[in-house]
Amino acid sequence: MRKAKDNENVPKRYYRPTLTTCPRCGASLRRRWTLWDKYLVTLAGRVHIFSLGYSCSRPRCSRVIYRSIEAEQLSPKGYSFGFDLMVQIGWWRFWEHRTLDEIATLLTAQHLPVSRRHILNLIGDFLALLRAAQPAKIEAQRAYFKRHGLVISLDGMEPEQGNEMLFVVREANLDLTLVAKTLYSSRADLISQQLLEPVKALGFRIRAVVSDADKNIRRAVKVSLPGCPQQACQVHCVCDAGQPIFEADRAMKTDLRREIRAKLRPISRVLTQSSQDDPPVSVLMDYCEALRDALRADGVSPFRLAGLKRYDELQRLEISLRRCQKKRSIFSCLPC
Ligand SMILES: [Zn+2]
Repeated sequence: MRKAKDNENVPKRYYRPTLTTCPRCGASLRRRWTLWDKYLVTLAGRVHIFSLGYSCSRPRCSRVIYRSIEAEQLSPKGYSFGFDLMVQIGWWRFWEHRTLDEIATLLTAQHLPVSRRHILNLIGDFLALLRAAQPAKIEAQRAYFKRHGLVISLDGMEPEQGNEMLFVVREANLDLTLVAKTLYSSRADLISQQLLEPVKALGFRIRAVVSDADKNIRRAVKVSLPGCPQQACQVHCVCDAGQPIFEADRAMKTDLRREIRAKLRPISRVLTQSSQDDPPVSVLMDYCEALRDALRADGVSPFRLAGLKRYDELQRLEISLRRCQKKRSIFSCLPC
């Protein structure tokens, strides 16, 4: 059964129009009635919002009702969640890549009553907001695009093999998304109709296209933008060229981890059995933790090589340990 919310201690907030005098006759405005009131969940907690309507105090003047713009901007119409909360949840989900459970925990920590069902809905609403704001972002760059034209990048992502693909067309100089669509197939005619034609319809000169070497994309560009220069994306090229190095680095990383972990295990065991109040023991425990941490790092193709990074970190740890031994501040119980 649904539990009724306890609204007794919810703080009240009243919103009035910014105008205080009548724009027609200059007389002061008088409060008429409450236009609407609702309980709103915002990042600051739950609040009871009242939007008060005002009109001219002169009986024979206009009956126009003035309201607070600020109150209208707190949340979408008919919603009990504020825009601020919606944007925060969207940020957590898509910029910080947090899971539904993590978001629920963060909200609980801030004492915000949002159920998992509502988090899911709010994520959907956030995406709708984002999409609705996109034309305005493109419009804001109209002067730049008119002058310099567009250099577009076209890329397709397939999160799950065999399922729909997400295609994104961006303006490469400003890093601005022009069109994003999921297509059930990467056929050239679909790419042409669904992605390139809408970009053409924006009405700017298209100076060049950057994409990977995919045959369908190349064919679509030839059909929709005949004569437009097309370059293979350098990041894709570098990733392909760097793949053997990246694989070798990954193998080294695995070897390093196996070797160090095997040596670390007996030392850790000795240390946990020793007296924890002994300062050298706690220092060595910290070293063990730092070692374990150094073994965890992951790489990103093509330039962030985790194996090399681990190697550097291990060397730094070794130098630090040797310095300690030299000072004789910690006893040497290290077999490695
Ligand atoms: Zn008036």
